[in-house]
Amino acid sequence: MQFSRIYASLPERFSAALTPTPLRDPQIVALNEPLALELGLDPDWLRSPAGVAFLSQGTRPDGAAPVAMAYAGHQFGHFVPSLGDGRAMLAGEVMDRTGRLRDIHLKGSGPTPFSRRGDGRAALGPVLREYVVSEAMHALGIPTTRALAVLTTGESVVRETMQPGGIIVRVASSHVRVGTFQYFAAQGDIEGVRILADHVIERLYPELKDAENPYLALLKTVTARQANLVARWMLVGFIHGVMNTDNMSIAGETIDFGPCAFLDTYDPAKVFSFIDQNGRYAYGNQPDMALWNLGRLAETLLPLLDSDREQAIEKARGALMRFDAVFNDTYLGGWRRKLGLALEEDGDARLAGRLLTAMHRGEADFTLTFRRLGEVVRTGQTENLVALFNPGSGIEDWIVDWRARLDREERLVEACYTDMQATNPRIIPRNHRIEEMIQSAVAGDYTPFHRLVAALSHPFDEATDGLDAPPAPHETVRNTFCG
Ligand code: AMP
Ligand code: MG
Ligand code: MG
Repeated sequence: MQFSRIYASLPERFSAALTPTPLRDPQIVALNEPLALELGLDPDWLRSPAGVAFLSQGTRPDGAAPVAMAYAGHQFGHFVPSLGDGRAMLAGEVMDRTGRLRDIHLKGSGPTPFSRRGDGRAALGPVLREYVVSEAMHALGIPTTRALAVLTTGESVVRETMQPGGIIVRVASSHVRVGTFQYFAAQGDIEGVRILADHVIERLYPELKDAENPYLALLKTVTARQANLVARWMLVGFIHGVMNTDNMSIAGETIDFGPCAFLDTYDPAKVFSFIDQNGRYAYGNQPDMALWNLGRLAETLLPLLDSDREQAIEKARGALMRFDAVFNDTYLGGWRRKLGLALEEDGDARLAGRLLTAMHRGEADFTLTFRRLGEVVRTGQTENLVALFNPGSGIEDWIVDWRARLDREERLVEACYTDMQATNPRIIPRNHRIEEMIQSAVAGDYTPFHRLVAALSHPFDEATDGLDAPPAPHETVRNTFCG
């Protein structure tokens, strides 16, 4: 096993070397063995005392120190010049089986120089949520950090109540965020921004080195990645919850699963996060917020784009214009697949919009609506679909128009159905299931955790496990919390 120290070798001011604080009794409660193997890490070693020390404290076999990364960020619109890994550490990078470098990062491992008033710890519940949701996102085909392991620490953390402490070990293509660029830019450290941009290009986008203006190409590429990512979130009803610039990855992966949640019934204004009182990061605001964040990234890059500021701004504007084009492409393309449409017609976006209106009016379950559209295609029966909508939604009229549109398709019904069920998941990580899983785990029973992880790894397959059911009224989760 070869661990690299690439980010830690950047200049001193990029990170802080850590001497980990020992934990009382670290124990692995979940280990993602397929991911470990993909990373070239031996699961038996990871389970050994040396492996547990690595997963809980970042203690490396080669003795190199883990680091806390420096970053800034706009939190709910307010700029904070120094955030950084306050309860996390980068243990290092590994080369995976496909030759790609991946970061191994621990969250909940203890205080760092960036902890400010925080305790540097994480509670078990939220790290289990991150494990389940990030692995579910991966199975849904959405770019995301992965979950390698969850450990308990044998210590308690104080939140609203006392809770068992936990650590999540996550894997990313890179942990550089929009906020990392902001950290240097805010200090007028243009050289720092340049070193960071060069590092990102080298690591994530080496093909951009040959571009006429590599930094402009970087901005365009990150813009496109984020547009694509957020469109994919929208297509599965995912709400990130805290789209601050420090939680937006330059690699275009979903990162930092805090108070995230999936829609049950469709509502574009839906917010779960308890801390998002103004709905800044509501489901339907996510594309706008992503573009806003990219505007903050663009500002940090201006000095690298052109020596003339007006010219630099012009170039940045041009790069950001790509957001709408890529978003609309991915989003509309995704909608066509969701509706079983292989041909492209001008009216398709309107057809999609009208379904959303009916879903909103009828308080229909997001995931089940699409899944049952596939059933309509296969069986010709509409009752199960219509039953998801409250009366007066207009779904019946919509079905008539959708069927007329489907009649113009030239595909066999079977192919259409198969495609639809391969894009519209049967199950997503429902909030009430996550809460139930957390409560069991905290009480020592990990059966629901393993059951959820297993089912969510095949989200498109038919099964009769009941995990696709929406919450009963008393099970509905209204708020999610960070932890
Ligand atoms: P997050 O909301 O998880 O994205 O975190 C925002 C910032 O707060 C980051 O700098 C975190 O490292 C820091 N932070 C969050 N929770 C804690 C904690 N319990 N102790 C120290 N720092 C924390
Ligand atoms: Mg340092
Ligand atoms: Mg964060």
